[in-house]
Amino acid sequence: MSGFNVLWLPGTDHAGIATQNVVEKQLASYGLDRHTIGRDAFIEQVWKWKTTYGGKIIHQLKRLGASCDWSRERFTLDEGLSKAVREVFVRLYEEGLIYRDNRLINWCPRCHTALSDLEVEYEEVEGTLTYIKYQLSDDTKQHITVATTRPETMLGDTAVAVHPKDKRYKGLIGKSVDLPLAGRRIVIISDRAVDPSFGTGAVKITPAHDFNDEAIAKNQTPPLEFISVIGPDGRMTPEAGDKYEGLDRYECRKHVLKDLKKRKLIEKEVAYRHAVGHCYRCKTTTEPLLTAQWYVNVQSMAREAISVVKKGKIKIIPKSWENTYFAWMENIKDWCISRQIWWGHRIPVWYCQEMKTKKCETLRGVVVSRETPETCPNCGSHHLIQDEDVLDTWFSSALWPFSTLGWPEQTEDLKTFYPTSVLITGFDIIFFWVARMIMMGLKFMHEIPFHDVYIHALVRDIQGQKMSKSKGNVVDPLLMIDRYGTDAFRFTLAAFAAQGRDIKFSEDRVEGYRHFVNKLWNAARFIMINTESFNASPANASSQKPVLHDIASRWIVSRLASVTQDINTALEDYRFNDAANSIYQFIWHEFCDWYLEMAKSEMKSPETTPGVRWCLVHTLDTSLRLLHPLMPFVTEEIWQTMKHGNRKQERSAQQSQESIMTSQYPHDLQKDSVVEEEMSYIIEAITGIRTIRGELNISPSQVLHVSIKTSSIAGEKILRENIHYIKEIAKLDTIGIGMHIDKPECSATAVKRSMEIYVPLKGILNINAELDRLNKDIAKVEESILFLNKKLLNEEFLQRAPAEIVEKEKAKYEKLISMKERLLESIKMLKDAEEGDGIQKQKRT
Ligand SMILES: [Zn+2]
Ligand SMILES: [Zn+2]
Repeated sequence: MSGFNVLWLPGTDHAGIATQNVVEKQLASYGLDRHTIGRDAFIEQVWKWKTTYGGKIIHQLKRLGASCDWSRERFTLDEGLSKAVREVFVRLYEEGLIYRDNRLINWCPRCHTALSDLEVEYEEVEGTLTYIKYQLSDDTKQHITVATTRPETMLGDTAVAVHPKDKRYKGLIGKSVDLPLAGRRIVIISDRAVDPSFGTGAVKITPAHDFNDEAIAKNQTPPLEFISVIGPDGRMTPEAGDKYEGLDRYECRKHVLKDLKKRKLIEKEVAYRHAVGHCYRCKTTTEPLLTAQWYVNVQSMAREAISVVKKGKIKIIPKSWENTYFAWMENIKDWCISRQIWWGHRIPVWYCQEMKTKKCETLRGVVVSRETPETCPNCGSHHLIQDEDVLDTWFSSALWPFSTLGWPEQTEDLKTFYPTSVLITGFDIIFFWVARMIMMGLKFMHEIPFHDVYIHALVRDIQGQKMSKSKGNVVDPLLMIDRYGTDAFRFTLAAFAAQGRDIKFSEDRVEGYRHFVNKLWNAARFIMINTESFNASPANASSQKPVLHDIASRWIVSRLASVTQDINTALEDYRFNDAANSIYQFIWHEFCDWYLEMAKSEMKSPETTPGVRWCLVHTLDTSLRLLHPLMPFVTEEIWQTMKHGNRKQERSAQQSQESIMTSQYPHDLQKDSVVEEEMSYIIEAITGIRTIRGELNISPSQVLHVSIKTSSIAGEKILRENIHYIKEIAKLDTIGIGMHIDKPECSATAVKRSMEIYVPLKGILNINAELDRLNKDIAKVEESILFLNKKLLNEEFLQRAPAEIVEKEKAKYEKLISMKERLLESIKMLKDAEEGDGIQKQKRT
């Protein structure tokens, strides 16, 4: 709409672990698992699942009215994207940035795969710290006590470590202890990494099952032995000994504790809170496991990725997220990219089984290739076996900004659309995805992948809680769309999308914005009925601007210009809520509440009618275009109807010709601040009269006489010139205006910025009866306030009632309080009126 060549390319990733889990569960319900059906059949099964359910996100996007280029939809396992994945893997390997290493890795025993550091969620749990005595080998009367939260791992201990400066253990360094239950001897070593204040200051070292211990083990000369006693399935290995082999790790813990107790080797057990890692997909407790995995050395790429954000080449919005980004990037560790699952890009590495030449042997038979090799390029062997693992899904997602545009081919699309302008995403994948796209984009395109990263809000429930299945507070967007329409739903999300704040979602709000859609619809109908003889097409409205004789029309044209400017700035700054609220306020309050009323009055005169009609069409057309990005469907429908009228046939023939989507987005309209200022006097006068009517409960049809005392001659002049609006809209019989007007007898007063408004009440209202009514109302309200107050102070109610009921009662209470305030205002207004006039106070009951 603003004339840019825009591409919103839709697509999805293959969500490796998550998708594999779903299909595995499906198989389990038939009593099958992936190993019994085999790799090929399993992958076929996942594709079947993907075709049936994988379109859900795309379907939701379509229902939301997202204007993507659907013809270019991409999936990370598409042929082109897979080609890009291989290209990147091979290039990084050839540069030495991809390597294989045998080290500890976070492992999920349920998903049966390695996880990157990011895929482990740490959570505090109540555990037990067990103090175990290890007897010295050369003096069984002496022992050293170690403390651990994981007693079962002692079966894999290969040392006990103390701090070199710890005086308590000075004489013990170098001696050995008998490792209970395992029947092995291990040595007491010293390492500065040991914290003397933890437990006894002596710690057991299990290099194969603890990251700190791994570091200490590698630090020793010679390095300590690694003994893996827990296997990939979370069960004890043969290394754990005959007695424990095959037991689940937690079951084994119980056995080990029982056996240690029997031998009186437990000194004490104390409660201990500590953080435990869980798989982000299935929540199983992860296990550090010694395995060979593929890694990307990201250090130099991370430095570049930090620099482009520091220099402002890439902006993260809201800016506060930049610190989160820097903190992580500055401490980044090498990225483990291999996963022991089947759904994903299989690692393009083959192992030569023969190694017939020296060259092949030095390479340990490793062949890394873009194409699947028939024979070993290093020795000609036909016996090649591909690595069983697949790549982390984020490896392919990291290439998204260029792989989807055809890279490594230098396509037209790539030239036209890379670097892209904006990426919109959630904060939870800044590291998983955003950081990696920046690294890969800079590495392979030598250019940033996008200029702006907008971090959107999280949608929570009305109490601010995260939506989750277990809480039962999840809102299905499609259900909301079915109930209230896409426009109302989209508008709600936009209207509450304040930067840096989460969205507290409630259905009431969507319902509220559906009223807005109705309001717009009714206004459009009114306008089309009243402009029938005038050719109400947007094109006419923009070209043939007549002279505007009335101030209301000049005013609405100027307000439209102001609001257009506000919306444009808000959209440029990603303040979607401000844009939504501006257009809402304008259409509902200024256009519908004020201008349409005034237009009705102006259209009684043949002189002003052409200008008003033009103005109605111009304002509606411009408002529709302003609103279109937020409410695409109703705006299109009204706009098409305006263009073609209700002549259905003509309309359907031309329907596909032009869409509001390709009409021009409004900007740079002419403002008139003098008119806006003048109009504000008129609005002030009418609002003042309406306030008095409202507070004193005077029927809207009751015709009044009003006096207005202005504070300036200019104000007086404006009101006089536009007296017809005031009389008509505020339903007045006569009106007195001037700087020297006195307050008439027994009249209600409204004091405004630049005027005082008097409404004489004689013959309109029986003051005493009215005061009676108000006092009775106040009594009733006070009674309710008392009752609710008691309830809200009741601890039992507060604790037992559901949060939403408590919230509702609180809201009710607030409402009553403001109701009471309003009633008191009305009483004051009446008292002031009668005081000016000297009615006997004792008459009042
Ligand atoms: Zn898992
Ligand atoms: Zn070979």
